[in-house]
Amino acid sequence: MVTTFKVAVLGAQGVGKSAIVRQFLYNEFSEARAPTKTRRVYLPAVVMNGHVHDLQIMDFPPITSFPVNTLQEWADACCRGLRSVHAYILVYDICCFDSFEYIKTIRQQILETRVIGTTETPIIIVGNKRDLQRGRVIPRWNVSNLVKKTWKCGYIECSAKYNWHVLLLFSELLKSLGCARCKH
Ligand code: GDP
Ligand code: MG
Repeated sequence: MVTTFKVAVLGAQGVGKSAIVRQFLYNEFSEARAPTKTRRVYLPAVVMNGHVHDLQIMDFPPITSFPVNTLQEWADACCRGLRSVHAYILVYDICCFDSFEYIKTIRQQILETRVIGTTETPIIIVGNKRDLQRGRVIPRWNVSNLVKKTWKCGYIECSAKYNWHVLLLFSELLKSLGCARCKH
């Protein structure tokens, strides 16, 4: 049986969504990349933990201008395929308080717009730009507590720039998708 897991990468502008995806897929990083204006879809076959997994990674532009406040735009995004995803990666920048507020709103809207039967769609929260630790504005334990204990979501900090924990993120993602074979 061939299953393609659809994964949506969401978050505010500039948090490093595209950088994470490109680092994961192509091992490349650029300081100066143009903002993503339209949704980009990647269809990699990923070899992880000795197994091949077909993924459809959707790198979304910000759903609306910041802050997220129009449900209509969210609904439009749903029509473009968000509702059928198997997992969400919500990215914020550890140096930008507003970007965490942004994913709080997105998460809320995901919960509100979930169709029946998709309540188990995993959400992984990602704090990116870990290399800029000195500029961190949100304490790690604060977010980690909220995310793991209250939201019951996975939480990973990574640096797309230095390829730190990017692989771990996707390996955790596959685990949360229930790939039993990835669990050891
Ligand atoms: P997106 O709008 O969320 O897709 O963000 P981009 O991937 O386009 O990245 C926005 C900016 O942040 C770019 O200048 C990247 O080079 C930079 N960036 C992304 N990830 C990191 C990271 O882990 N560390 C640092 N220092 N910069 C990063
Ligand atoms: Mg982008």
